[in-house]
Amino acid sequence: MVAMRAMVLDAPGRPLRLQELDDPVAGAGQLLLRVRACGVCRTDLHIVDGELDVPRLPVVPGHQIVATVAGDEARRVGVPWLGWTCGACRFCRSGRENLCDRARFTGRDLDGGFAELAVADARFCFPIPAGYPDLQAAPLLCAGLIGHRALTMTGDAARVGLYGFGAAAHIVCQVARWQGRRVFAFTRAQDAAAQAFARELGAEWAGDALGPAPEELDAAIVFAPVGALVPAALRAVAKGGTVVLAGIHMSDIPSFPYELIWGERTLRSVANLTRRDGAEFLALAPRVPVRTAVAPYALEDANAALEDLRAGRVRGAAVLVVAPDAA
Ligand SMILES: [Zn+2]
Ligand SMILES: [Zn+2]
Repeated sequence: MVAMRAMVLDAPGRPLRLQELDDPVAGAGQLLLRVRACGVCRTDLHIVDGELDVPRLPVVPGHQIVATVAGDEARRVGVPWLGWTCGACRFCRSGRENLCDRARFTGRDLDGGFAELAVADARFCFPIPAGYPDLQAAPLLCAGLIGHRALTMTGDAARVGLYGFGAAAHIVCQVARWQGRRVFAFTRAQDAAAQAFARELGAEWAGDALGPAPEELDAAIVFAPVGALVPAALRAVAKGGTVVLAGIHMSDIPSFPYELIWGERTLRSVANLTRRDGAEFLALAPRVPVRTAVAPYALEDANAALEDLRAGRVRGAAVLVVAPDAA
C-alpha cells in the first residue's frame, strides 16, 4: 500500500494534478510495471481537453510507456494505446483488433503511464528493441506504430506528403526515405523550424500546408487535427492517390467540390493499432534505423508538455522522464 506519484485527470478541461495513489496491483495476466519514461501524444491532449469521451474518471493518461517488469528489472517492455481486446467480436476474429467493439485503451479506459507504476495486460506489452534508450523508445509506441500503420495504407506511393510535422511525421519521414519514397512536408506557413527539421530528416521539400504542393503526390498522410487540411491534401494527390487521416480527432472537415476526390482518389482514416502493427514496426525501427528526437519533461511537468504540444513548440516528441536515471 505504498504510495506512488501520478499525474491524474480529474475532469476534462482541467490541468492534470500531481497525486499520490495507492500502488496498483497486477491482476491475472497482468504485469506490474515500473515506468521509466512515457511519451506524450496528441491523443493525451484530446483526452485532457475533453475532445474524446473518457468513460471513467479520474484516470491516469499516457499510452507510450517504457517500463521494467517489477521483480524482473532486466525485462524492458513497452505499453501502447491498445490495452485490451475481447478476442471474440467479428473484428477481433478477422485480424482487425484495432476496431474491437469492446477494446480498452491505455490512458483512457485503463490507467496509463503518467505515473511511477502501472499495470498492463502482458499480451499487449511489446519487448523494446535493444539500442533504444528509454526516452528514445517511448515515441515508437504510438507516434511510431500509428505512423507505420498510416504509411502502410499509402501502399507503394512513391511521393508522400506529410501534413503536420510532429512526433509521428518525424518517424514516418525516416521510414519512408529508407523505403526509397520521396517525402514532402506540409506545415504551418510560418513554421520555419518544423520545415528545417523535416528537411534534416530527408524531406526534399517543406512548406505551407494550405499552399500549392510543388508537384503531384501519390499519397498524403494528415497528422495534424485540422479538418481544413483534408481538401488541401486531396487537392495535392494525383488520380488514384490516397489521403490517410492518422489522428483520433479532427476539427470538422469543410465541404469541398466532388472533383477533389474524383479520379478514384481514396480518403480513409486510421484507427488505433493491432499487436501485429507493433511487432512489425518494432522490428523495422532498428533496421532503418529510426532515430527519435525527444523533448524531456519531468513527470510533474506533464501539463507544460501538453501546452508545448498544443502550441506546436515540440521538436519531435515530448516524453515524460519518470525514473530519474532514465534521462
Ligand atoms: Zn498516441
Ligand atoms: Zn473484439
